[in-house]
Amino acid sequence: MSECDYDELSVWQDILDDVMNGHVDGLVCPFCDKKALEVNTDGPKISVKCTECGRWFEGVNAY
Ligand SMILES: [Zn+2]
Repeated sequence: MSECDYDELSVWQDILDDVMNGHVDGLVCPFCDKKALEVNTDGPKISVKCTECGRWFEGVNAY
């Protein structure tokens, strides 16, 4: 796992669920509420980054 604490992870979880369901367009950043999330999937790896506030998350698709 990354350095994210559990609170942050739970915030990103909704986004990750959307990404895993194929919804990668128009995602809203949970921290700044802007539609500025960039999603990259590379095999089992998923990285999400907000171009507005700079928050990011990287995880592995465990499904
Ligand atoms: Zn943001």
